[in-house]
Amino acid sequence: MNLSIGIVGLPNVGKSTLFNGLTNDHVLAANYPFATIEPNTGIVPIPDDRLSHLAKIYNTEKIIPASMKFVDIAGLVAGASQGEGLGNQFLAHIRSCQAICQVVRAFSDANVTHVDNLHSPSRDIEIVNTELVLADLHTIERHLPKLQKEAKSNPKLNPQLEALQKIKTILGNGELLSKNQDQLVAGSNILTKLQLLSAKPVIYMFNVDEETLANTSKKDALSGLVAPSIALFVNAKLESELLELDENDRQELLLSYGQDQSSLVQLIHAAYDVLNLQSYLTAGPKEVRAWTIAKNSTAPQAAAAIHTDFEKGFIAAEVVSYKDLVSAGSKTAAKEAGKVRTEGKNYIMQPDDVVEFRFNV
Ligand code: GDP
Repeated sequence: MNLSIGIVGLPNVGKSTLFNGLTNDHVLAANYPFATIEPNTGIVPIPDDRLSHLAKIYNTEKIIPASMKFVDIAGLVAGASQGEGLGNQFLAHIRSCQAICQVVRAFSDANVTHVDNLHSPSRDIEIVNTELVLADLHTIERHLPKLQKEAKSNPKLNPQLEALQKIKTILGNGELLSKNQDQLVAGSNILTKLQLLSAKPVIYMFNVDEETLANTSKKDALSGLVAPSIALFVNAKLESELLELDENDRQELLLSYGQDQSSLVQLIHAAYDVLNLQSYLTAGPKEVRAWTIAKNSTAPQAAAAIHTDFEKGFIAAEVVSYKDLVSAGSKTAAKEAGKVRTEGKNYIMQPDDVVEFRFNV
């Protein structure tokens, strides 16, 4: 599964600092050989302690973690949807991402100019969201007349037309579509087709100073601005400065600032949450690997993450939970203890499953 998260926000809020922190993680880069990094796109391995334990059990050195792509999307300023700043270039970047991480400046630093000299997180959020809404309105206004015309001769298109009109009303009220999921017509594929920006789930990442990081009531106030969306907190500058440290020292320092997880781990968890994802594991002497799938996937659907032929030719899945496998010490021992199950095509995958698929191709 190709997961990508677009990092958006006004200029000078710390997007690039966060992006560099997320993608130039030396600890991770040292552990996992494939963290490919392009100027504004970084593929980041998802930290997963289970993999190294499994690698020990199977005596393999090859670990392939699941990964997530981050894209640093510059150019969002007030009026961007009308061509201000970098104009609309950012739109295509956002369109290709599954979720948005909106970085909001909540640190004060007289040396770092704010885009319009006013420091107000709620106003900044409003500006960014308004641009997303306006960009979607443009898209809808381009499609609506065409669909209206087509629906006249093809009444089957009427549900799509209704959905589009409802979407237009929500956007016309200045609201993000992601906040109004319940009002959107179920089963309408129009949202997927148009890849509307404001329909993408948003995770808010407040870039705060050290004092706020450790202050629950300040953080609660910021969370309140975006509830029920997920609010995360980072001091991007501090975290990027900790990159050179080894993992233990870094964890210790983050903890001393009230952070029990790095922003990377927080963001990955939040992305799995908003996108309804989970992982499962495969393990053997050749490699151990984590795979990302949609929550509630059946075993054949999960097998398709490895290869589409695995889904087509699915016969069964041999499943053991990670905990049972680790406590038994080997797959053979887990089998002897009756912990390895054979599951069929209706089996719903669990996040801790270590799986071997049987298939016919
Ligand atoms: P972008 O335009 O949103 O990508 O912002 P940058 O990441 O380039 O950051 C803009 C400026 O703010 C840089 O000088 C950063 O060093 C600074 N900056 C970023 N994060 C923080 C922070 O958490 N605290 C402080 N004081 N400065 C920060």
